[in-house]
Amino acid sequence: MKIGVVGAGASGITFAISRKMLYPKDEVIVFEHLDKALKKILATGNGKCNIGNTIDISDQFDEPIVKSILKEYPFDKQKEFLDSINIKTKLMGSLSYPITESAVTVRNALLKACEKYGVKIELESTPIDYKVNDKGITLKTNKGEYHLDKLVFATAGKSSPNLGSDGSIVPLLEKHGYRLKEFRPVLCPVYTKNRTKEVDGTRFKGKVSVYDDDEKLIFEELGEVLFKDRGLSGIVIFNSTRYMKEEKPYRVRLDLLPDVSKEELKEFLKKNGREALLEAYLHPNLVKYILKSNPNDKELIDHHIKAMTFIYDKTYGFEVSHVSAGGIRFKDVNSNLESKSEKGIYFVGELLDYDGPCGGYNLMWAIATGLHVSKNIK
Ligand SMILES: Cc1cc2nc3c(=O)[nH]c(=O)nc-3n(C[C@H](O)[C@H](O)[C@H](O)COP(=O)(O)OP(=O)(O)OC[C@H]3O[C@@H](n4cnc5c(N)ncnc54)[C@H](O)[C@@H]3O)c2cc1C
Repeated sequence: MKIGVVGAGASGITFAISRKMLYPKDEVIVFEHLDKALKKILATGNGKCNIGNTIDISDQFDEPIVKSILKEYPFDKQKEFLDSINIKTKLMGSLSYPITESAVTVRNALLKACEKYGVKIELESTPIDYKVNDKGITLKTNKGEYHLDKLVFATAGKSSPNLGSDGSIVPLLEKHGYRLKEFRPVLCPVYTKNRTKEVDGTRFKGKVSVYDDDEKLIFEELGEVLFKDRGLSGIVIFNSTRYMKEEKPYRVRLDLLPDVSKEELKEFLKKNGREALLEAYLHPNLVKYILKSNPNDKELIDHHIKAMTFIYDKTYGFEVSHVSAGGIRFKDVNSNLESKSEKGIYFVGELLDYDGPCGGYNLMWAIATGLHVSKNIK
C-alpha cells in the first residue's frame, strides 16, 4: 500500500512510524509544508515535552469515538510504543516526560525511527488538491503528483501558527465538503475587563471557579494562577478556556487561600487588623492591590480573598494558544477515523474536534490516533 500523510507533527509521524513497523512493505510518505519536521514538539512542556499522563480522563468525554480511542491507548500502551523507539520516560507525579527532560530527545528519537523504518518525509511540500476515485487517491502538491491508496490528514488546528499549524489546509478540506467546527484558541491566557496591571507577574496557588452569565458554575480547579498585565494566566486558567466556549461575560472567581477557612481569617482579622491579615497571608503585590480598593472587613474576606472576581473579556489568540478546539466533526468519520464521504481519507490528531487539558493529554491524543489509524487501515 502507498500511504500519504499531510503534516509531520506528533500524530502524523506516530502514524507513519507505527504503520511501517506493522506493515514494513507499505510505502509511507509524509508531506510537511515547513522546512523541518516536528517543529512543535520542541516547544512542548516548556522545552521538556510533557508526553503523557498516568491518569485516565477518557470518561470526561461524551464522544464515543474519543472515549474508545483513549481507552484503547492508555498510558501504558503509549509508553510501550515510546520505549520501542527509544523514548525513555519518567514520571513527575502523574505527568510523564522524557528522562532527559528535553523535547529535543523526543524529536530526535522520532526522526531516527523514521529513518530506521523507512518513512519518507517530503519537506516544503504543500497539498494543492486531491482526487478520490475507485483506483485510489491522486494528491497534487507544489512539488508534483502522487498516486496513493490512502491519505491521512494530520495538520492540527490554528494554534501557534509559527510552528506550522496555521489552518492552511482548511480551504482544501472545505472544498471537499467537510464542515469543520470552527477552530477556537484554548490552553492560553485570558483577557479580563478588570485591570490587573498592578499585579502583573504575581503568581499564587489558588482555586479558580468560572461561572456562566447565569451564575452556573462551569469550571473549578485548584492550581497555579499568574496575573498578567491585562488578564490571567497559569495552568488552571489555561484549562478553564476549554469551557469558555462563547463570547460571554463569564465570571472568574479566585480563592486566593483555598486551604484557609473564612473562620480562621475572621479570627485573625479580629485580633490583628486588616493590614496584618493581608501581610501575613498574601503576596505583597496582592496586599497593595487589595488595599487600593479600600474594602470593608466583610468584603475583604468574602470577596477579595475568597472570591476575587474578574469579568472575562476573551481568550488570547491563536499565536499563543497551545491547542485549538474545533476541527473535523466526529459525525463525519467512522470509528477508524476514516471519512464517511471519501473512501481512503483519514484524520488524526488535533485536526479532529478534540481538545484535552494541560498535562500531556494533547500529545496523548495525537499518539493514540496515530497508532489507532496505523493499525486499522486495511
Ligand atoms: C507551546 C506549546 C506547548 C505544548 N505543550 C504540550 C505538552 O507539554 N504536552 C501536550 O500533551 N501537548 C502540548 N501541546 C499541544 C501539542 O503539541 C499538540 O496538541 C500536538 O502537537 C498536536 O499534534 P498534531 O500532530 O495533531 O499536530 P502538530 O504537532 O501541530 O503537527 C501538525 C503538522 O502539520 C503541518 N501542516 C499544517 N498545515 C499543513 C499543510 N497545509 N501542508 C503540509 N503540512 C502542514 C505543520 O507544519 C505541523 O508539522 C503544546 C502546544 C504548544 C503550541
